[in-house]
Amino acid sequence: MIALPVVDSHAPPVRVMALHALAYCPRLFYLEEVEEIRVADAAVFAGRELHAALAADEDGESVSLELRSDALGLVGKVDCVRRRDGSYLPYEHKRGQPRRDEPPGADSPGSPQAWPSDRLQVIAYAALLEEAFGQPVPEGRVHYHAAHVTVRVPFDDQARADLAAALAEARRLRESVERPPIAENERLCARCSLAPVCLPEEVRQDRQPEHDPVRLFPPDRDGATLHVVSPGAHVGCSGDSLVVRPREGPESKHPLRGVEAVLLHGFAQLSTQALRRCTEHGVSVHWLTTGGWHTASLVPTAGQVQRRVRQYRALTDEATCLRLARALVLAKVEGQHRYLLRATRGDGREAVAPHLAAMQEALRGAAAAADRDSLRGHEGTAAVHYFEGLRSLLGRQVPDELRFATRNRRPPLDRFNALLSYGYGLLHTAVLRAVLAAGLEPALGFYHTPRSAAYPLVLDLMELFRLPLWDLVVVGSLNRGQWDPAADFAVTRAKVWLSEAGRKKAIGLFEARLQESWKHPVLKYSLSYARTIELEARLLEKEWTGEPGLFARSRLR
Ligand code: SF4
Repeated sequence: MIALPVVDSHAPPVRVMALHALAYCPRLFYLEEVEEIRVADAAVFAGRELHAALAADEDGESVSLELRSDALGLVGKVDCVRRRDGSYLPYEHKRGQPRRDEPPGADSPGSPQAWPSDRLQVIAYAALLEEAFGQPVPEGRVHYHAAHVTVRVPFDDQARADLAAALAEARRLRESVERPPIAENERLCARCSLAPVCLPEEVRQDRQPEHDPVRLFPPDRDGATLHVVSPGAHVGCSGDSLVVRPREGPESKHPLRGVEAVLLHGFAQLSTQALRRCTEHGVSVHWLTTGGWHTASLVPTAGQVQRRVRQYRALTDEATCLRLARALVLAKVEGQHRYLLRATRGDGREAVAPHLAAMQEALRGAAAAADRDSLRGHEGTAAVHYFEGLRSLLGRQVPDELRFATRNRRPPLDRFNALLSYGYGLLHTAVLRAVLAAGLEPALGFYHTPRSAAYPLVLDLMELFRLPLWDLVVVGSLNRGQWDPAADFAVTRAKVWLSEAGRKKAIGLFEARLQESWKHPVLKYSLSYARTIELEARLLEKEWTGEPGLFARSRLR
């Protein structure tokens, strides 16, 4: 019998469930154990329910035994331990079917076997039991409930060698900052809870354009965004719900399981208890000024060291920054150019023609720019002409008070610019949420330089979304006469900003736009704009994790 290797006692033990993930897919192990990304999907919840039911049912048997071995560097909780023929055996319960390999030439499935990940898991429990009870454990057993079949897994020399190799690989991966590649077997991904984070189908489609991707990225957000806008409103909690009490009017209740983020505008208050409940439920909290600008965030995060190490490495490399910045500027300016073209298809082309030509020239310059400074120059030129062209898109029905002469900010000097700035503030927070959800460091970007309170990486990503998420919405709502120049704005000689009514209207329009669905022209599936922001943040990270080429590829059609 071969002996399992003893480890350095200072190394943190490997969880048996982590070995299960490792045997399923090394990348899954890395995302869960090293980057600490965990997503509980329907299958995970169903598995938990099965184990809870078993804990209640298994009368007279030893169930759910916690086992730990410092010598092996292994820890785990076995579903059930039974005594058979004088030996203790570990039992694992699984909801699904066992593996059945059809023998060559046979027309019926082969005998049931344990899946490799289940086999490794029960072997690890056998090793832990052997040490705990000080007597040999000849085998482990896996019961597959869907087939009412129990499979025996021998704890022999091969099993010991496989366990030792898996433990060594787990420890090697824990020390690495390199995320393993996506699984070769794409069927694994369809059942993987981390597919929305890992994005394996997007990579396969990029590598093989003929690949017909299975859509694994969710089409919309999991929960709502709770905006608290009324001055002096108070957010408390009652059980697992947030309760919003405005100074006037009725209170409203919002179950936390349906909330993804809380945005406190201006001087709204949030109790410490509510803040704590939010962190327990993974709900992020963001504070904004009355002008819509982000001031602070509380986002429950963990295990992001490796992701940030890779980001620092990539974004301190000038060539990488230039490549990403060029892709970003081309996407932004091409989008603006297409929008002006599309909006003047029937009428008004003459007025925008010189600006379209200048933007084309800027695009050629950006494509050939040798450094980021000259890229910024071409983008700046294009922006001047874009805003010149944008003026022509406002219909004759739009009152003079809502028109603008030039783009101005900090502070905005007219109503149009107040609208733009407020929406960009909301967009900043939406992009910040996506950047943090992807585990990226918002303060380290590749195009914008750290000059203001805004995060450079967030400003970078925002460039992809200013037009589709806000410019289009502002121009459309102005042309539809949705804005009241008096009631929706507060005007002084020094600046113009939105009144409370105007802010509520802008938030309503912005949130509605975030929920709108569109078909991604490269990945060829539909998703909401809110999810598109998160998708783009995750595709950006792929640029420096060995799967480049998908960032900033989408364009307005
Ligand atoms: S989605 Fe696929 S490649 Fe990604 S972790 Fe899961 S199984 Fe592995």
